[in-house]
Amino acid sequence: MEYMANTDRYNKMIYRRCGQSGLKLPAISLGMWHNFGDTTPFSNCREMMLGAFDMGITHFDLANNYGPTAGSAEESFGKVISGELKGYRDELVVSTKAGYYMWPGPYGEWGSKKNLVSSLDQSLKRMKLDYVDIFYHHRPDPETPMEETADALAHIVRQGKALYIGISNYSPEQTARMIELLDSKGVHLLIHQLSHSMLGRQNEPVYDVLEQKGVGSIAFSPLAQGLLTDRYLNGIPEDSRAKGRSIFLTEASITPEKMRKVTELNDFAQERGQELSQMALAWVLQRATSVIIGASRLQQIAENCKTIEKTAFSKEELEKIEQILNG
Ligand code: NDP
Repeated sequence: MEYMANTDRYNKMIYRRCGQSGLKLPAISLGMWHNFGDTTPFSNCREMMLGAFDMGITHFDLANNYGPTAGSAEESFGKVISGELKGYRDELVVSTKAGYYMWPGPYGEWGSKKNLVSSLDQSLKRMKLDYVDIFYHHRPDPETPMEETADALAHIVRQGKALYIGISNYSPEQTARMIELLDSKGVHLLIHQLSHSMLGRQNEPVYDVLEQKGVGSIAFSPLAQGLLTDRYLNGIPEDSRAKGRSIFLTEASITPEKMRKVTELNDFAQERGQELSQMALAWVLQRATSVIIGASRLQQIAENCKTIEKTAFSKEELEKIEQILNG
């Protein structure tokens, strides 16, 4: 049967201005790092993408290397955007990135003009798109002069292959420098994509630079890859990311110390009348323009979207959370 988007979708989400730009992002965005590649059933990927759009999620975040296998998440996206979502391209904000290892030899990663321009061309082919809305430099490159990376990003905008530019995993100092370099080329940095959650706060100083310069922010792994949900409260489920082949969330990293805090946070979320996942996302949204969630099933996306029903915290509630996190 032909797909028709839910006509009520824009009443189900809130949209927030990205820095001082004209672009608004949904408070909840969907990332395709895990569970959208060719090692998982495409039917589930399609169900999550269409279901997310029906809930008002207009922003899908990709990268050249997402899968597994690398590149296959963009191919999955390409199938849906040229299929069921074909008529909806102008309602979507699609991002992709380059910078991590993608192909062998000296040009397959980092931040040279050669890498960034070629990688985006490959991504556009895989996604069956003429342009992306946001193109990110995925990680800072210690060897390529930052001027060259900035020049490549500005070139990509002038080519019309990306509307806006983002950076990811840059330090506060690197961020300030890149903003300056891009401004000098007439391109204002739109957004920084940074890791941020109640269990991962090392990047909080980046927000100070972004807020001062009118640049938006989007937090990745806001649920600490699933730890800040009810997923691991009673052990490590067989079908969870931690049981899979991820090198970023291992069973060994789920320590009793962390789980003690997660259990206390879960009890507190219940007191507030929401799920732990929802409280964790609301907490990050105090600072970030949007949060990029990952998901392995549609139900998780539905639960996470309900975050917007209760995003405010009282001073006492915030103090209580600090106490648990520092305890
Ligand atoms: P999250 O912290 O949101 O973790 C997602 C995982 O948490 C899901 O796969 C699922 O785990 C579990 N989960 C999500 N919602 C629920 C729920 N309601 N109840 C129970 N479990 C839940 O984010 P990710 O680590 O997946 O990262 C999100 C996105 O951020 C990526 O897809 C990518 O777009 C971006 N990213 C960017 C990086 C960068 O360097 N710029 C680096 C990493 C991510 P399970 O699979 O076990 O069900």
